[in-house]
Amino acid sequence: MGMKKSVEIICRNCGADTLLQRDALYDGFTKTGEKLSCSSCGFEYASENEVPFKTKTAEPVIFTEADRSEAADVFDESENKNLCRYCANYIVNPFTQFCSKHKKEVQATDTCPQFEQAEEKQIGDGLL
Ligand SMILES: [Zn+2]
Repeated sequence: MGMKKSVEIICRNCGADTLLQRDALYDGFTKTGEKLSCSSCGFEYASENEVPFKTKTAEPVIFTEADRSEAADVFDESENKNLCRYCANYIVNPFTQFCSKHKKEVQATDTCPQFEQAEEKQIGDGLL
């Protein structure tokens, strides 16, 4: 049993999104190594370190769906709503971030009991 080893590669030679071909090399009956080659073009890789494995596309899922949605809920409820950056009194300029209500410097990620929802157009208006 066990995990099937990933053999997907992006071939350095032909550029194909393809599979690694492994052929055991024998000296008589003794396995001396493996020949690693591209199954598309046959390009031979000197060692496993040379093989351009196609990785990081199928990371194991660490969190269950339940964990994920719980975390998202917490974030929505406590983090996202009263942030100074979304407040009508939040003023940002090149030098400081300022609360016009409390006349003090704030951080975008600060929260405030006197939060006032800013006009929606200030958020994600897509200006470039
Ligand atoms: Zn190839």
